[in-house]
Amino acid sequence: MAQARRVKSGKWRIYSGPEFDVVRDPQSGAVAYFTSLQEARRWWQRLQPDDPPLNEAIKCAWCGAYFGRRMSYTTYAGHYYHPEHTPQARNR
Ligand SMILES: [Zn+2]
Repeated sequence: MAQARRVKSGKWRIYSGPEFDVVRDPQSGAVAYFTSLQEARRWWQRLQPDDPPLNEAIKCAWCGAYFGRRMSYTTYAGHYYHPEHTPQARNR
């Protein structure tokens, strides 16, 4: 299972495996960067044709941070949030 994340520079990277290791270009060995999620998805499809289409990692709908593997999150109205960032929690 792989997921894409947008990094601070605005580029996209792919993470995969049980530890969500960053994916490297098999030819150059360098961390693979992409200018768009679509580009990352096409590249991943060529590399792992049997994988389901690459999607962006789940992130908080309010602050935009991605959830780490061990972080807890909650859903509200079809969106994911940090527990302290749901609309109810912010109105408290
Ligand atoms: Zn948040």
